[in-house]
Amino acid sequence: MKREINVIDLKFNEELMKIDKPRKIVIHHTHNPNLTVESTHKLHIERFKWAGIGYNYFIEKSGDIFQGRGMYVGAHAKNHNRDSIGIALAGNFDEDLPTEEQIESLVDICLEFMINYDIEPIRVIGHREIEGVEKTCPGLLFDMDKFRELLIERLDKIK
Ligand SMILES: [Zn+2]
Repeated sequence: MKREINVIDLKFNEELMKIDKPRKIVIHHTHNPNLTVESTHKLHIERFKWAGIGYNYFIEKSGDIFQGRGMYVGAHAKNHNRDSIGIALAGNFDEDLPTEEQIESLVDICLEFMINYDIEPIRVIGHREIEGVEKTCPGLLFDMDKFRELLIERLDKIK
């Protein structure tokens, strides 16, 4: 089942640049499990002085998907923002697992982007898999290999 992407009115403080050609998807957790798309937007403006929420998409615990920056260059993975789609899940997956609904939604939108932009499963990565990143993001309990296997399984069913 394909889930819709909710678009809420987020005001960005600068003009955003379109992502030219997304080549990978980077998965994140918010670390603070209480963050919502709106509070993250506010936090990224106030604390980091960014134009607005750094993530391209955001998935709350309910599985509801929200557009953050959408297909405009984000601020979520240093040196990789221009050609990647950053998706954040609300939660701290060093301590908890994502909800089933979150995983379902994440699979759905990853598959959509993978098909639309011709992104291979191996290019769906966790933030910590980027060279030089010391964070555990998207959390120690988030098994990226298992997640990619799930994507491959689902892709096989679609084809
Ligand atoms: Zn991250």
